[in-house]
Parts: sequence; structure tokens; C-alpha cells
Amino acid sequence: MIDIAGNCRKVIETIHQAAQRSGRGIDEIKLLAASKSQESEALRAAFAAGIRLFGENYVQEAAAKKKTLADIADSMEWHMIGHLQRNKVRSALALFSVIETLDSFELGRMLHEEAQKRQTIVGTLVEVNLAGEESKAGISPESILPLLERLKELNHLKVEGLMAVPPMRQDPEESRPYFRRLKNLQTQLSGLRIANVEMKELSMGMSHDYPVAIEEGATIVRIGTAIFGPRSR
Ligand SMILES: *Cc1c(COP(=O)(O)O)cnc(C)c1O
Repeated sequence: MIDIAGNCRKVIETIHQAAQRSGRGIDEIKLLAASKSQESEALRAAFAAGIRLFGENYVQEAAAKKKTLADIADSMEWHMIGHLQRNKVRSALALFSVIETLDSFELGRMLHEEAQKRQTIVGTLVEVNLAGEESKAGISPESILPLLERLKELNHLKVEGLMAVPPMRQDPEESRPYFRRLKNLQTQLSGLRIANVEMKELSMGMSHDYPVAIEEGATIVRIGTAIFGPRSR
């Protein structure tokens, strides 16, 4: 049996320690439970342990879980952290408050149009591919500013920050340069005066390297296995 409540306590404690080490306030950091491939009851256990923010990678899987967890789903906040296919934009808007994986103008335009129909504003993070990995989604650092310039007319979409999944390495210290790079990009872009851009969030850090991410300025850490244990495939 996996002790989800105990794991949540450990992760929260580790977040506290990392925040303290780096002179940051604990309220600057949000813990997102990355719950792909976990059973709904595992999410319920994390919710009972105080977790409110959940990240899912697949639209259909998220829809099924929200249905099963109908009694608590409205008290949970849901972010899309997987690649969003264009034919899933409509369903995604019904499920998620923030799409953390915005990686093209076309996707932004479709999200804006769907949000307009629903008379809401969709939050997004721009996903950045920091190491130019072909196997991964996200845009190059150089492409962020041109993308933001194009997105600025889309008033039902707001850009709230950046998200990245750096190359997976055993040693969490190897993630540090990537986290620092993302933080620098955020700092550079935070001076922009674009109405629908507010560069406040930095979604970075996973189970193996989130303390380092917090030291480097993460505002959202996405934690899967450290909360739920290994994923069944
Ligand atoms: C699965 C996933 C995570 C969580 O990964 P763990 O190593 O299990 O903590 C975080 N971010 C994204 C985008 C993911 O797909």
C-alpha cells in the first residue's frame, strides 16, 4: 500500500525546507499533483491530505476522473500538463483552468476562440523546450517573444508564465542550469507591456528535482511519483 497522505506530508515538508533555504515564502509555491495514470481514489486520497491542484496529461483521462470525483471535483483546480491536441481544445476548456502546454499560435488562437464562446478567459503557460530535444514539445527560448507578440490580440487568453520539462538526469543538480535559464527568461519577459501577458508563474521541477527547482524560483512544482508512487503502465 502506498501511503499517499504520508507522501504528501513529506513533499510539503521538503517544499518548506527548500523555500526556507532560498529565502522564499511558502505561499509563493504551489504543489501540483501530477496524477496521470493514477486511479481516481488516489487523487481522492491526495485531496484528503490537502492537495487542491492536480495536473493531467490526457483530456479523456481527466474527464473520466472528474466524473468519478464529482463530489469534490469543483473544489479541485485542474491544469493540463500534457500536449494538447487541437481536436481536444473544446473538451479541455471544460475541464482545465490553466493549459500549461501552450506551444503554438494556432493552439492559442483555438483556445481563445473556445474561451470566447464560453465567455471565460483561459489561463496558459508557454511550454519551453530548453534543451532543443526533438522528442519533447515546447518552443525554443527565442520563439517565446514572437509568440507573445502574436497572441496579444487574443483577449480571451492570458499568458501567466512559463513551463518546462528539462532533460531527465539522475542528479538533480543537472537540472539546475535549465531551471536558472527558465527563471532568466521569465525575468527578461516580465518587463513586457502586453495586456494579456503577466509572467508570474514558473512551472518547473518534478519528483526527482523539485527542491532544486524551488531554489531557482519555481512557483508550481509538478509532483507525480513522490506522491502516488510508481505509475502503472
Ligand atoms: C508525469 C509528469 C510530471 C510528474 O513526474 P514525476 O517524475 O512522477 O514527479 C510532471 N510534469 C509533467 C509534464 C508530467 O508529464
